[in-house]
Amino acid sequence: MSSATLIKIEQINSQLKAKGYRKSKLRESIISHLQHGKAPLSALELMDKLLLEDLNPNKTSVYRELETLTNEHIIREVSLMDGKKRYELLIADRDAHSHLVCTECGSIECLEIDDGLHKVENTISNKHGFKIHNRILEFFGLCLNCSK
Ligand SMILES: [Zn+2]
Ligand SMILES: [Zn+2]
Repeated sequence: MSSATLIKIEQINSQLKAKGYRKSKLRESIISHLQHGKAPLSALELMDKLLLEDLNPNKTSVYRELETLTNEHIIREVSLMDGKKRYELLIADRDAHSHLVCTECGSIECLEIDDGLHKVENTISNKHGFKIHNRILEFFGLCLNCSK
């Protein structure tokens, strides 16, 4: 685990403590998995990872932690048109990023480079006098492996 991860978890812990939440090993583990994943994870995918850690998670506590973290704007729900809810950490510079979803193998990749999209947003903002604070834009197609 990198030191950056620990700092982040410490920050989140103190943020939650200030709101009266108790420290929770399960919550820390969920955050850590979401931090290390390159793609958003569903509750079930998280459960699988937690099982490997012998945390013996029960579904209710995992869902409760996900709800808490969502309400506290530490994670966000990502919906990719397949009816599944997935979660990822909300990191300021990546707040409104898009995803590349492979329709063949189901792989999901977070899109880091949003420069072009910011440009489009600015154009829309200027043209319509509209202040954009969020967007939902996902890309569906074939990943490198599947398009070979
Ligand atoms: Zn694929
Ligand atoms: Zn993402």
